Amino acid sequence: MKSLLSKEYKKKLALLEKYNKHYYQNQKPLVSDKIYDELKNEILGIEKKYGFSNLKSPSVKVGYQPSKKFEKYKHKVKMLSLSNAFSQEDLINFQKKNINFLALDKNYEFEYSVEPKIDGISASLIYKNGKLIRGLSRGDGEVGEDITENLKTIRDIPLNVSHPDFPQEIDIRGEVFIETDDFKKIEKDFANPRNAASGSLRQKDPEKTKLIPLKFIAYTFGFSSGMKIKKQSDFIKDLDKWNFKTSELNKTIKGVDNLVKYHFGIEKKRFNLKYDIDGIVYKVNDFSLQKRLGFMATAPRWAVAHKFSANYSITKIMDIDIQVGRTGALTPVAKVKPVNIGGVMVSNATLHNEDEIIRKDIRIGDTVKIERAGDVIPHVISVDKKLRSPDSKKYIFPNKCPSCGSKTIKDYNSVTKKIDAVRRCSNEGFGCEKISIEKLKHFVSKDALNIEGLGKKVIEKFWNLKFIKLPDDIFNLNFEKISRLEGWGSQSAENLKNSINKSKKLKLDRFIYSLGIRHIGQENAKLISEFLGNYAGFIKLKHQKNIEDLSNIDGIGETQIASLKNFFKNDLNLKVISSLSKILIIEKNIIKKKGGVFSNKILMFTGKLKNISRAEAKSIVEGNGGKIVSNVSKNLNFLIAGEKPTSRKIKLANDLKIKVLSQDEFKKILKL
Ligand code: NAD
Repeated sequence: MKSLLSKEYKKKLALLEKYNKHYYQNQKPLVSDKIYDELKNEILGIEKKYGFSNLKSPSVKVGYQPSKKFEKYKHKVKMLSLSNAFSQEDLINFQKKNINFLALDKNYEFEYSVEPKIDGISASLIYKNGKLIRGLSRGDGEVGEDITENLKTIRDIPLNVSHPDFPQEIDIRGEVFIETDDFKKIEKDFANPRNAASGSLRQKDPEKTKLIPLKFIAYTFGFSSGMKIKKQSDFIKDLDKWNFKTSELNKTIKGVDNLVKYHFGIEKKRFNLKYDIDGIVYKVNDFSLQKRLGFMATAPRWAVAHKFSANYSITKIMDIDIQVGRTGALTPVAKVKPVNIGGVMVSNATLHNEDEIIRKDIRIGDTVKIERAGDVIPHVISVDKKLRSPDSKKYIFPNKCPSCGSKTIKDYNSVTKKIDAVRRCSNEGFGCEKISIEKLKHFVSKDALNIEGLGKKVIEKFWNLKFIKLPDDIFNLNFEKISRLEGWGSQSAENLKNSINKSKKLKLDRFIYSLGIRHIGQENAKLISEFLGNYAGFIKLKHQKNIEDLSNIDGIGETQIASLKNFFKNDLNLKVISSLSKILIIEKNIIKKKGGVFSNKILMFTGKLKNISRAEAKSIVEGNGGKIVSNVSKNLNFLIAGEKPTSRKIKLANDLKIKVLSQDEFKKILKL
């Protein structure tokens, strides 16, 4: 048992090491900070419970080993990390521990030096006799990388300090960072300002570092000779005197309640700061107490970083943008002042639809709380109405499509008997530019024409270059011109030509699906194509009365009929279909055999099937009259269990008394 656990522990350590390498050395995080921190906490938990230890553990080391690109130097005084606090309770515990450690009265109030935790990377500047002689990165905390020449390109770093009080030898430490506005210029290369600062600073060639406007704010020291000051807040005053930049947010505060108040206040105005901060650092101000408290393995006992949440942040709505989707749905998106939520810079948040804006009374200029949890698109949780300016105006949702100017409408849903929350462009066709681009993206997508090399970005580029406007333009592209575009060449243009040619032959259901008719997804396209037989049958739908016949199909209802009628009413749509029919070879679908061995039966697969893909197995079942679903329910007739099936699904099937078949039993029924 213990050896199994030890193996698991080492595996987790190796994974954390991999994340560290990508984060600290390559500035390309593999995972979000949240996932990283969860893994780190898991490792610390295992160590605590089972007494494991390892030299590579986050409990004993910080950062990552220095890169071979640079010379290495040992720090005279280690450069450590900081312990974290996320709540008032964490802070109370931090203070209590220190009171106990120093055997002080339980009501003792420390004075703290309170400083923003700038989200950059730390550097140590070694001055001798007032002259900057070397600059090091943190590296693994003990040994740093010699990045002197790169640091010298930063204007905030004095090369000489001539003040009489300046110690004969001192390591001035602080944060190298990039301001939010400057980050915007390079954001496509980095996940967040911290990675950007680290990547820019640790270039092999200082000339490249010089191109990025890095900044430096000083906040502490490592080794020093002959310093007489007694408090961290006095040291910060000295830094100012010696011509180092310090943060305008530095303060001294007593009492945990006041720390929390200050934290909350800064969290609210964080988005307005020039640089990104990910929390506030509280340091016991008195150096004699700091000395007694000392250090743990990876952080000082006398300081703590009170982090901002990794799930939400407060910011301001600068504008509301209305995006138009393929089916004409207008989605409002808040353009917010960029904020870092758990290591990811967020500048857009969805507002879902018109009803959501009305319900929350969201306005341009509002201070809002936005949430980003997991892979979900960031969204606005609430508005701080107290901070709203008196001349703020209600947001009026456009009654005209921002793309084509058509009237916008809200449908009545006959099933729910309610008016839709979503407002749409009434054009719903190629006549609206934004809808048209989205329709083109859909047309070439995997389940439609599946044209490799013609992704969303390429469609947008070709549209902007006026190469394409309607789907048939894709088959008349000038590949010679394309090969001369930036990022293209004759080979990639040739590849695109081949995949476009390959896409010309397709089944009727794919063709119907590719047209992107609202409410006609893959499943409905299949039903319709089986009912109509071939393209000749399909094109008869241009006579509205023929569309009614489709209501005989099980699964096609009023909504789909109305949508098809709307689609075929539009002349441009008819023109597109007609042009495509001359270019494409539209084959009829193989009609499933009625009355096969699985006639009217519902089946589901779990686990891996041997020697057959899921897609092929699905088509065999359908060819034998059956239907494949993806959830176990009481309507299911057979659950086919391949290798390593999901035990939860098997259990549920057993509970519901559904027959579970092995792959061999399944083959036997089909006489395969
Ligand atoms: P940290 O960045 O959380 O805190 C320590 C650092 O704070 C110091 O090194 C210093 O650079 C900085 N700092 C800013 N202002 C300061 C001030 N006034 N006083 C003192 N220090 C100040 O610690 P860390 O150990 O460098 O990094 C851990 C963080 O990095 C975590 O948030 C983790 O999620 C993230 N990380 C993420 C990945 C990933 O793959 N996503 C990998 C490694 C680390």
